Parts: sequence; structure tokens; C-alpha cells
Amino acid sequence: MPQIVRVALDVPLRRFFDYCVPKGECLSVDDIGCRVRVPFGQQRKIGIIVGLPSESAVPLAQLRSCEVVLRDLPPLPADWFRLVEFCAAYYQAPVGQVMLSTLPAGLRSTTPAKPRPVRRLPDDTRAIAAPALTAEQEMSLAAIAAGGPGFHAYLLHGVTGSGKTEIYLRLIERTLAAGRQSLLLVPEINLTPQLEARVMARFPAAGLVSLHSELGESARNRNWRAALSGAARIVLGTRLAVFAPLPEPGLIVVDEEHDASFKQQDGIRYSARDLAVFRARQCGIPIVLGSATPSLESWANAAGNGAGNGARARYRLLSLHARAVEGARLPVVRRVDTRVDKPIDGLSGALLEAIEKRLERGEQSLLFLNRRGYAPVLACMACGWTSGCRRCAAHLVLHLADRCLRCHHCGYAAAVPKACPTCGNQDLSAFGRGTQRLEVVLGERFPQARVLRVDRDSASSRTHWEALVARIHAGEVDILVGTQMLAKGHDFPKLTLVGVVSPDAALFAADWRAPERLFAQLMQVAGRAGRADRPGEVLIQTQFPDHPLYAALVDHDYPAFAAAHLKERQQAGFPPYTHQAMLRAEAPRMADALSFLNTARACPPPGCENAVTFYDAVPMRLSRRASRERGQLLVESSSRRVLQQFLAGWVVQIEAIKAPGSLRWHLEVDPLEF
Ligand code: ADP
Ligand code: ZN
Ligand code: ZN
Repeated sequence: MPQIVRVALDVPLRRFFDYCVPKGECLSVDDIGCRVRVPFGQQRKIGIIVGLPSESAVPLAQLRSCEVVLRDLPPLPADWFRLVEFCAAYYQAPVGQVMLSTLPAGLRSTTPAKPRPVRRLPDDTRAIAAPALTAEQEMSLAAIAAGGPGFHAYLLHGVTGSGKTEIYLRLIERTLAAGRQSLLLVPEINLTPQLEARVMARFPAAGLVSLHSELGESARNRNWRAALSGAARIVLGTRLAVFAPLPEPGLIVVDEEHDASFKQQDGIRYSARDLAVFRARQCGIPIVLGSATPSLESWANAAGNGAGNGARARYRLLSLHARAVEGARLPVVRRVDTRVDKPIDGLSGALLEAIEKRLERGEQSLLFLNRRGYAPVLACMACGWTSGCRRCAAHLVLHLADRCLRCHHCGYAAAVPKACPTCGNQDLSAFGRGTQRLEVVLGERFPQARVLRVDRDSASSRTHWEALVARIHAGEVDILVGTQMLAKGHDFPKLTLVGVVSPDAALFAADWRAPERLFAQLMQVAGRAGRADRPGEVLIQTQFPDHPLYAALVDHDYPAFAAAHLKERQQAGFPPYTHQAMLRAEAPRMADALSFLNTARACPPPGCENAVTFYDAVPMRLSRRASRERGQLLVESSSRRVLQQFLAGWVVQIEAIKAPGSLRWHLEVDPLEF
């Protein structure tokens, strides 16, 4: 009787596939987790061996033969299987797709490129010495040590510059000494080079590798292999690195754990942070979630903050209140009441004066405005024409730097019209303000100053970005205008003023997560101001100076902000006090999208008819994107387990719905955006 091998394949089906093993070959349990090449329809595919079952639901005579077992790599470890299987089950994704999509492309290809040798270590492996710990750092590290080995989740809440990274480094040091691997997750590729340099300087012999989507295929392949072989004792990466196979895991760190970038926004919509917590629990190892502004979900999970509202504390809270460097103080945050000090071209008198002072002292200023382009809309005052995108329910943004109108949703671009397309009026008006306009205004107001704009347009690639950062460091810039790109993780020693130009809109946005994001952004950007010897100042221009969000910022009081918002969430019945999933559908016609959602709503899995609460199927806020109409249907339950059970059955029902061929849908668990 031929041996049977069960294989995971990258196909949108919620099952595995059985093959028989060619005569003369015999697979052993050691082959589970190896890659295998198999015929599939007319094609060949690379799959992963998930088992050697004694029988198959398919009659033996109908089983096709697998072609070759690839043993060029150690088999994927058992805990990796538990992670991807959990991911598939929790996010309702086909398991084979999850498994294969986490591998670097080279390992999925039937015609693999020859791998280049795993890199030589640098010759100079002398490590840079660690600083003496502050009392708060000591306490946090002692608390983690006291937790002992095994799974513990720690929420490390520390203001920017309080020395969280130093704590990660000390934990990595302990993990290295214990002969185990560390996984360090960061939200953004832009943050990896500096952290990489810092970790490398401390542990030059640890075979540090990074994993992120901008790595070339061969580098990603090589680094992934180094993780799997155990040669890399430290793996640093963005969200996809949560799937890095590690034979000897000992520690997981998630830095900036609140950051939305940990959530994958297409394909398999997983949260790398949440998967990291699951992984740590499975592996029985500690995990540290660090942030200056933790997500409210994590905060509610942490003990001793008074905000847990009786929920069982699942994370241990560790706090760093002061900056680590001797004498470094948090910036002074002030509100500028723009009802009184009326801004001209977006700049209040107080802010202008503060910039002036920095120029006189040879220090840098940063103006934060989270909107790219020159102006968000171009309009004709004569006839009422506005620059709408033909493909989206949104306006084309005026980009004067390259003289075009551009849609930030679908990428459509057109030249700026010389006259109104409807009435021919040549006097078109730009409404509102983006970074480009602010750059122009500042150039006019301070002709002697060197103004630099940093946003996704001016720093479109990693190389551009690094060049801009180098200019700022070299002191070649007096005034920076930037989006949130500049807010994260960069220390510019000469920067002593941050001006927040117009943050108010987020206070009253339709998306109830907007204030949380605003608070995190402002804390982060405020953290850029002031270093050891130069105290920083932050000016927030607002029409609502009494708003509690700004009051909490002035006091650097995240716990107060979090407590107030968690209370609101609880009263309104929002997460983390309820659990949600979003079904979205898009089609050329809205009626088709909504009708699909309503059909889905009408076919809950048998026995689960009243398990969850359904909201109405409605058009999404951006109801049309790239010529496709989009609708959404929210489901919710107070129990995560009940919701999970429901979704597992529901997704099968949804897949069976006969929908127009042009309709696309997806299900997102724990959605972040509404
Ligand atoms: P965070 O990650 O919280 O922003 P970092 O770990 O990057 O903080 O520390 C901020 C700055 O303080 C860095 O320049 C770092 O080198 C320094 N630092 C951290 N811990 C100490 C310490 N114990 N003594 C002196 N300097 C420290
Ligand atoms: Zn007109
Ligand atoms: Zn568009």
C-alpha cells in the first residue's frame, strides 16, 4: 500500500491535500514541516508537509503522486504550525494560504534561485557597553526577572526617551545568555535601520537578521533561513516577522505596540501584535509590549491601572515615567487658543514667535501637519465645481510641487486645469492646507530659513528618506514640515520646538478610534522636542483648548486619557468591551454590494441564529474607490469565543453565496478602521 502524505497548498480552500509517496520512498515524521513539490491541476506547486495520515478520504487510486521532498532546510518547527493554524482559524483564512504566504517567495517557487551563503560576521565583534540602568529601568527588569521563565505578558508603558529600548536590549542579553532566540517586532520599515544599528552595536556576534517587505528576495530568503536554522539569535522585523520560524524562541518584544501598522490591511488581515501574544503563550516565553501610548485594548488588559474595570488583568504593567538621560526633561506642552490668536495662513502669532526664537538660537523647529499635498481640494467659486475623483467618492488633492491633482485613494493623477472644466473661470481657489502649502508659507515668512518638507511625496523611497534624515542631522535644516512620518522614533538633537498646526478635526471624526490615534501621534511628535541639554516646547494650535485630550497631553498623562476613553468605550459598548468582525463587499454597483451583505446576514450558520448582533449593511465611509462601490456589515458579540464560533460557520455560508463575478468580499476580525 502506498504511503500517504498530507500537504498544505497556497489555494483559497479551507483544507489540505493528500498525495501518495512514490514507490521506493518512505517519509518519516521528521519530514513533517518540509516543503514538497506536487502536481496540482495542470500546474506544479510547492506545499508544506503537514502530516502522514494512515488513510485518506480520497480513494487511493485517485491520489496523485508527490514529486520531490525538499530537505534543503530544517523542517518548520511544531510551534510555527500552531501559530499559522491559529492565525488561519482566528482570522477565518484558508490555512494553506496562511502557511505558504508567510514563506519568502524563493521558498515557494518551483524554480528556486540558488541561495547565496548564510553572511560573514563582522570582523570587529567588540560590543558597545551598556549604560548603567536608571532606577525605573532596574525595577522593570527586576519585575520581569521575578516573573521567571514561561509565558508572561508585560506592558511596558514609558514616555519617549524613557529607555524602553534599553530594557529590550537587556532582555535580549539575558535571552542570548540562556541560549535562546529573540524576536523584536517594530511597526515600520523606516524604524528598522537605526534599531538594527543599535542592536548590532550591542550584540555584534548574535547573527542579527532583519525581516521586512523592502528586503530584496535573496536577502529575505537568507535571513529567514538564518532564523530557521538558529544561526540568527536575534530577529528584528516588521509585522510579517511574527511568522519567522525559530527553533529556540526565548523572548518576543513588540515595540510601539499600539501602532496600526501591526495590522495587515489586505489579504489575510491579521494583527501581528495579537499573534505575537498568542505565540509567546504557545511557546511558554515572555513577551513585552512597549509603548508611550499603549492601545486601549492592551491598557485594559494590564493590571493596576484602575482602567481594567474589573476585567481580569492579563498583562503586567511596567511604567517608566522619566526620561533616561540624566537631566533630560519632557517638553513643555502649551495650547494656543486660535479663537483669540487667529492664525494667518495656518500660523498663529505665538507659533511664529516661537519659530523666530529658534532661528535666532540656531535650533530646529518641526511643524506637524498630517496632510500631504498643497490643498485638499481645488474649487471654482463661480459655479461650485470641485476637484472630485471620477473613480472615488473623494476629492483630488492639489499637489503644486508637481502641478497635478492627485487622488490619495486610487492614485489617479491629472494636470492642474488652467480654467474651471465646467464654466471656464480661470480663477480657481485652493481650499484648506497641506504640507506643501505650509512649506511655501514658511518660505515666504522666513526667507532666511532653510525649510524642508518630509512626507511620503518628498521621501518616497527609503534612500530619499535616509538622505533627508541625514540633512536634518547635519543641521542643514532650520524648519521641518512633516506628516506623521517624522513623528516616529527619530532623535534630532537640535530640535527644540514642535508646532502642531491643526489637529482639531480628529477630535470629532466619525471614526471613534480617531482620538486614540490623535493622542498617540501628538505624544509621539511631542517626544521629538528637546533632548538632554535643550528643553523642548510643544505648541498645539486649537479652537478647543479645554478639550480633555489636550489637557492630558499638557500633563503628559496617558493614564488619564486612557481611563476617560475606556469609560466612554464601555458606555458605548465598543471594543475592548465587545468583539467585532466586519464583512466588506465591493462591486461596480452599490446595490450588488449591499444585497450580498444582506444575503450574508440572512444566512447565519445553523444553530447560531441569535449568537451575534448584526448592524445594518451600509456603504463604507469612502463609498467608492477605484470605481468600485463598497459596503460593510458589522457583527459583534460580547464573547470572543461565541463570535469565533459564529464566524467559523458563517464564512462557509458566505462562500456558498452566488454573487456576481465582479463582486469581491472579505471578512476582517477585530477591524481597526470604520
Ligand atoms: P525609548 O525606547 O523609551 O524611547 P531609549 O531606550 O531609546 O528610550 O532611550 C532614550 C535615550 O536614553 C537613548 O539615547 C538612550 O541611549 C538613553 N538611555 C537609555 N537608558 C539609559 C540609561 N540607563 N542611562 C543613560 N542613558 C540611557
Ligand atoms: Zn466653474
Ligand atoms: Zn480616486
